Amino acid sequence: MQLTLVNGEKMEAFPGGRGICPLCGAETIAKCGPRIMHHWAHHRIRDCDPWWENETSWHREWKNKFPLECREVSHTAEDGEVHRADVKTPTGIAIEIQHSTMTDTERTSREEFYQNLVWLIDGASFRNNFDIYHMLPDPKSELAQDLLWIVAKRHMNGADNGLFFRLSEALEEDPSVTKATLRGSGGWGLIHGIHEIEYEVNQSYTGYHQYDWVRPRKTWLDAKCPVYIDFGDEYLVKLDIYDESGLKCVQRVSKHKFVHDVMVEDHAKKIAKRFYPINQGEP
Ligand SMILES: [Zn+2]
Repeated sequence: MQLTLVNGEKMEAFPGGRGICPLCGAETIAKCGPRIMHHWAHHRIRDCDPWWENETSWHREWKNKFPLECREVSHTAEDGEVHRADVKTPTGIAIEIQHSTMTDTERTSREEFYQNLVWLIDGASFRNNFDIYHMLPDPKSELAQDLLWIVAKRHMNGADNGLFFRLSEALEEDPSVTKATLRGSGGWGLIHGIHEIEYEVNQSYTGYHQYDWVRPRKTWLDAKCPVYIDFGDEYLVKLDIYDESGLKCVQRVSKHKFVHDVMVEDHAKKIAKRFYPINQGEP
């Protein structure tokens, strides 16, 4: 743990420190060796929260982006079950900062427990299996409604650069067609290239791209709560579904905006939905 109660106040570990676990009330002792990340551990017993994973410096960096009172916050469900959220914001969003792999059962139980939850995943170990391809127009834009994108996949160079059909062209042939049925039929008519609409795509770009995740960790694709992946640069990558054709996409969201929105919006699903100036460098 990063924090424990010392004389009733949440504090970071200091040499010789002793405190009380805010979750179970057991004694905690500070671990402040020269080669370890300073933390608190339960004295004589294992950590009282079975969901707890050992912190990495990646965890710690993320927690430190939030005010102290938002870190390691106990959350009690209606049935009395208690766990310690990595971060819980004043607006009620819990953030689970997840480095290790996770089973579907574990993921589902945490989603049911926290409800208003966002996953923040360390992507460092699968960065080389994750390709991000061409820009997509904002899914709410008028332009997006007319385009059926061909699914991009590693080594499919045409689709990776951006190929699409136009729904309007297919409708001239069959007025009952939808994006979903058009996808199911494999498309119709002329295949267009993104260069034809480069300007319009740029105009309505809000961070969306096609991607391919080779050997994906499927539990994150099935998650009910939003999943953001940290590949170690200034943007997070949010897993998403682009349109009714079921096209998978990612949205790149700056870490700065994520931290801002999670502290301000009242639901995990509202993060990075509204765009307004925060400061320079926003998408
Ligand atoms: Zn405890």
